[in-house]
Amino acid sequence: MDDHARYRQRSLWLDGALTEFTPRPQLAGNVDVDVAIVGAGYTGLYTAYALTVRDPGIRIAIVEAETVGYGASGRNGGFVSAGIAGEARVYERSHGRDGIVRAERAMIDGIDWIGSVVAGEAIECGWIKGGAYRVATSAPQLARAKAGLEGKLARGYTDDDAWFVTAAEIEKEVRVEGALGGTYTPHCARADPARLARGLAEACERRGVVIYERSPATSIASQLVTCTRGSLRADVVVRATEAFTTLLPGESRSYLPIASHMLATEPLSGEAWGEIGWASSAPVADQRYQFVYAQRTPDGRIALGGRGLTYRRGGAIRESDEIQPAIHARLEQALRRLFPAASGAAISHRWGCYFAAPRDWSMGVEFDRASGLARAGGYSGHGVVASSLAGRTLADLITDTESELTSLPWVGHASRRWEPEPLRFIATHAIAAVTASADAAEDRTNRPARRIRLVRRWLPGR
Ligand SMILES: Cc1cc2nc3c(=O)[nH]c(=O)nc-3n(C[C@H](O)[C@H](O)[C@H](O)COP(=O)(O)OP(=O)(O)OC[C@H]3O[C@@H](n4cnc5c(N)ncnc54)[C@H](O)[C@@H]3O)c2cc1C
Repeated sequence: MDDHARYRQRSLWLDGALTEFTPRPQLAGNVDVDVAIVGAGYTGLYTAYALTVRDPGIRIAIVEAETVGYGASGRNGGFVSAGIAGEARVYERSHGRDGIVRAERAMIDGIDWIGSVVAGEAIECGWIKGGAYRVATSAPQLARAKAGLEGKLARGYTDDDAWFVTAAEIEKEVRVEGALGGTYTPHCARADPARLARGLAEACERRGVVIYERSPATSIASQLVTCTRGSLRADVVVRATEAFTTLLPGESRSYLPIASHMLATEPLSGEAWGEIGWASSAPVADQRYQFVYAQRTPDGRIALGGRGLTYRRGGAIRESDEIQPAIHARLEQALRRLFPAASGAAISHRWGCYFAAPRDWSMGVEFDRASGLARAGGYSGHGVVASSLAGRTLADLITDTESELTSLPWVGHASRRWEPEPLRFIATHAIAAVTASADAAEDRTNRPARRIRLVRRWLPGR
């Protein structure tokens, strides 16, 4: 199979976005630039974009192992949502309550910043900012939704940022079977993630950034990025490789590469949409421990995703693991259960991809001026907005611009490394087994599953 066909198979979004695909050149020979970036996902692209805004004359090159948006940026759920990527308690430890309140607000404002880039650069990615719903389908899920809302209010959210919604209010917007109530926030947009990534890449190129595709970096060092057929020499080197970081020499314990899986229906009939509603396209997620999330796509499908266990010993990342029959069957059941009006629709796409989970589930943005090395990532599956903040923050740090962004709690944050194998493998499988059985028990009994206490300390907050 050629690369083009392989890339198109990676997600519904890449399938659509790569229709008129002309590959960019590979890096061949040695090139001198001011800033070299490894990885053309959102983190790398936003860093490049923000740098060109700060310094229009700056020379930037990006090397991408595959194609723009090959990673999670071209395969995600398309929730451009607020809510910090990481754990409030971790950030609060270093920056107090004020730090966490500012971080939450930066995420909220970050959505409109992306919206302004989408509008200003005329990126056609189906952008609609209609908010998002968290929907509970059992009493324990409802209690978690309420607790989550209270947590947000304690972290500086006001009654205008998120509120409780009844089952009837949800039904008026989108018919989710079994919805008992939940929460709504106006701070979320929906987008086609691959078109967003590829549109950003074109915007960067219009500003003079050079992007090399099918150019994997084999080594990332101070002032030097080495690829198989060439190298980039630069004062500043940015590592923006997220889950794939774990494949780089010496980095296998930096993150857990965790897979999230998705599927999409064929475009639904007008009759089905008549039953489901969903005019605002506000994305929906449930409140399970292994939660399910869904969006109405710009071309009239339902794209739905959820977590499952696809962690291999040693954190191996393989394309052949992206389609998991058992997990995709569970997602299909969830689709039919939550949206019965779509139960006759064929599934047109199934896919998966990896995100990076640091040991404390909390992201980091770092720039060391002495070595010129920069890195950002560890968004724990919530990086669509966080990566834009990280990219803008790196641009400020690299250009020595003090700003509100450079004082946020993830700047300089470094998580400790994960335990060596086989501990990681055993723990990951145990946590996944307990969360799955807790969800099943809650569905059965409609009471909170006490077994979750066994693994609560390792679970990320939501
Ligand atoms: C299925 C799924 C659904 C998700 N849904 C959402 C969501 O709805 N909302 C949300 O906020 N977040 C979501 N996320 C998370 C979000 O997509 C990511 O946090 C975000 O895209 C990370 O962007 P990134 O640029 O840091 O990483 P990536 O997009 O993974 O990009 C890293 C890039 O680096 C390249 N690369 C790696 N190694 C090398 C190398 N050695 N040399 C050159 N290039 C290299 C890769 O090919 C890749 O293109 C989801 C993630 C997944 C997997």
